[in-house]
Amino acid sequence: MKKPLATLFAVILFSMTVNSQVKVNFEISFVEPQAHYAEVEMNITGLNKDYIDVKMPVWAPGSYLVREFAKSVEGFSATAGGKTARFEKVRKNAWRVYSAKSPIVKIKYRVYAFEVSVRTAFIDESHAFLSSTGIFMYPDGLLNLPSTVTIKPYKTWSKVSTGLEPVSGKPFTYTAKNFDILFDSPLEVGNQDVFDFTAAGVKHEVAMYGGGNYDKEKLKVDMAKVVEQATAIYGENPNKHYTFIVHNFSAGGGGLEHLNSTVLGASKNGYGTEKGYKGFLELVAHEYHHLWNVKRLRPVALGPFDYDNENYTTNLWVAEGFTSYFENKFMLRAGFKTPLETAQALATNIATVTNTPGSRVQSAAEASYDAWIKNYRPNENSGNTSISYYSKGEVIGTLMDLEIANATKGARSLDNVMHDMYDAYYKKLGRGYTDAEFKAMVEKISGISFTDFWKKYVNGTEPVDYKKYFAFAGVDLRDENEGKNMPYLGIASKKVEGKMIVSSVSRNSAAWDAGLNFNDLLVSVEGLPIDSALERMPIISEHKVGDELTVTVKRDGVTKDIKLKLKANPNIKLVATMREDATEAQLKVRKAVFN
Ligand SMILES: [Zn+2]
Repeated sequence: MKKPLATLFAVILFSMTVNSQVKVNFEISFVEPQAHYAEVEMNITGLNKDYIDVKMPVWAPGSYLVREFAKSVEGFSATAGGKTARFEKVRKNAWRVYSAKSPIVKIKYRVYAFEVSVRTAFIDESHAFLSSTGIFMYPDGLLNLPSTVTIKPYKTWSKVSTGLEPVSGKPFTYTAKNFDILFDSPLEVGNQDVFDFTAAGVKHEVAMYGGGNYDKEKLKVDMAKVVEQATAIYGENPNKHYTFIVHNFSAGGGGLEHLNSTVLGASKNGYGTEKGYKGFLELVAHEYHHLWNVKRLRPVALGPFDYDNENYTTNLWVAEGFTSYFENKFMLRAGFKTPLETAQALATNIATVTNTPGSRVQSAAEASYDAWIKNYRPNENSGNTSISYYSKGEVIGTLMDLEIANATKGARSLDNVMHDMYDAYYKKLGRGYTDAEFKAMVEKISGISFTDFWKKYVNGTEPVDYKKYFAFAGVDLRDENEGKNMPYLGIASKKVEGKMIVSSVSRNSAAWDAGLNFNDLLVSVEGLPIDSALERMPIISEHKVGDELTVTVKRDGVTKDIKLKLKANPNIKLVATMREDATEAQLKVRKAVFN
């Protein structure tokens, strides 16, 4: 259908006029933070409709799982023009308010928030983390409306940290140009420790909740280095200000990216060790890189977001996997890792993927598409049937970078692909890319065909030819397990209340063939009691491949003897070394990739 231009123009003009008069403002307060509740008041003015459907998102972009945030809503009520308005649920996440053409509609509800994660809201007496998709509702069909948010902190709280734009002269009041921005801007409310630094010309605020053994001055310097390295790839930093919300727990981790902020989980006493500290900086590098890769340079399906349903893409191996790959490069370039440490980390990741039986079953593209039902809903058989698009994507990034550098004699790398994709699709076209467009850019930068590469590693499940790719840079990868023929059972186990329980069984292993089950209680092996990881008990290594062992288990209370025939451990363990006799050509590739 094609509409006459004049009519179309009138329609656009009309809808702009209608929307410019409509205002949405929220007020969030806390009456019972100790019981984990936020009170939400949503005022919609100027809509004058018979009824308004207000909806709560079912998922948080960046975290590909339908989480049903509406499940935590209670006490919904509404008034229209000052009078109680009738309402009804019309969908799991939608309330229809009969507003009788009133220009002033007031909606109130409470949200229960007690799930610790970077993508779910959490409230207790010490603070409130407002993950926006689980707090705010939106008027259906009007995601483009601007909104104002006023936070009324609980009486013992004094600070709000968020990427939202503050309204000058109004304390704790912020605006969002549209609901996509509001849903992409979490708020931390409480007494967090706030400090800032400037890097790449942008003011960065760090809001630390939970305390910890971090050194502020050191973090300011080191986080700035990471920011500068990420910005260097794209040639510009699109934000005016950026907020890191950091939740420090006894054991914390993970992060979630947003347009001009991020939420990081950290271990409060992990900053004191080199491993813990660098792990935190790697998380910073990962989430910060997302402000380009996925928040702006994005797969075409990831925007505009459908807050009612899953958004499917086959490209999370780029959005997440390449972000993981570039963590390594930023850490290297910022001086936190050596080239050899970087090559070793990438090789170890290749071994992890190779040792995962699911890497022969699921491709990187399939893993991306099924993130919603597989990666975010793992079970005991996940390792046999699926592969992480993070780790496989990092493998693809590694190989692709080496291939591009090799094809261009070190003149080009994956940096150029990311830079030019950002330029072409985010800046010039203002839309996401398709898989074919991403491939076309890789081919344009490298000057060679990637059809075979895509077939094998993106859409296929072929084992990675790692030796060939690392040789481009004069890096040898040696498999330490090669030729060892070590006996192997193929189970993972965990200790539950002092008892060893099978937590997974590896495909085609001795345990798989013999029928050891997930949840079997491991009693004894050849009569010896099992009180540690069975796979690492000396009795296993004392036997040879082909030997038979009897493992006694308890399954649903019934004792059972299982005869296993030991097989050879199929897992590889890669060790990287930089060849000192590397050729000129190899040194050029090495400089482009491990530099
Ligand atoms: Zn990520």
